[in-house]
Amino acid sequence: MEVINGIADMKSICRKLKTTSRISFVPTMGKLHDGHSRLISEAKKYGETVVSIFVNPIQFGENEDFDRYPRDMESDKSLLEKLNVRYLFHPGMDIISENSTFTGNPSGSGILCGLSRKGHFQGVLTIVLKLFGIINPDFSFFGMKDYQQYILVKKMAEDYFLDTEVIPVPTVREKCGLAMSSRNLYLSEEDRKDACKFYQILAETVALFASGEKSGEKLSMFCIKKLLHYGFNVEYLKIMDAGLNTCKNVVGEGDIMLSAVKFKDVRLIDNIFFKR
Ligand code: AMP
Repeated sequence: MEVINGIADMKSICRKLKTTSRISFVPTMGKLHDGHSRLISEAKKYGETVVSIFVNPIQFGENEDFDRYPRDMESDKSLLEKLNVRYLFHPGMDIISENSTFTGNPSGSGILCGLSRKGHFQGVLTIVLKLFGIINPDFSFFGMKDYQQYILVKKMAEDYFLDTEVIPVPTVREKCGLAMSSRNLYLSEEDRKDACKFYQILAETVALFASGEKSGEKLSMFCIKKLLHYGFNVEYLKIMDAGLNTCKNVVGEGDIMLSAVKFKDVRLIDNIFFKR
């Protein structure tokens, strides 16, 4: 595997690559787990795969966990080698320094995670746009665990007429249902077991919908009460249409419930689609 740090180097490799193959791109912040591996396996079906690792400071708020965010380049590299990834882009801070233009989405960036994490999505979209500019991927892959991020990146790609198809990849979970996340490492093993209840309660709410309950308020209250009972501090819980345009009072198949909670001071996010 080639590890590329320089922006100009990465650009020239991708330009050459484009003459013979399609480029698939998987942006990450590292400390890779099976969720990332799933994105990479999917990406490899579409083209020569470039993975990036960059812990992006401009998507973290002032009191957030940028400094302690888990980093482990050596184990990440060996996982990528095992997955037969040929190119790892690991840029330095020069990718963002003296940045004076930011991209954002005023309506979609201020709800859900964007409400509690001010500036988060502006930071995400800015770095993703930069990475797209360097790599110029034909296909890019985003996990549905971060569903709002996927929707906003897709919208950005459309709005700026970018030549990348933004492809969503289903959430990879532990056996108990907990969505895999680099941040799960902040939880002790015992707490991680209890955190599994988060997704289980979301799934129970979908089961209530399947049994005939359509009221958004009733479904939300059912879910919030259970979450609180099991020690989750609910930051938000919303039921929306799949495009994240409106909140739903009457819930139908294909709508999505999204939530962020704090459990033992660790922030977890997850979502689930309503189906019968
Ligand atoms: P991160 O390194 O956490 O910034 O994530 C990089 C990419 O991996 C994002 O598109 C995430 O949505 C995706 N991802 C993270 N965790 C999972 C998971 N459990 N299942 C699927 N995709 C994931």
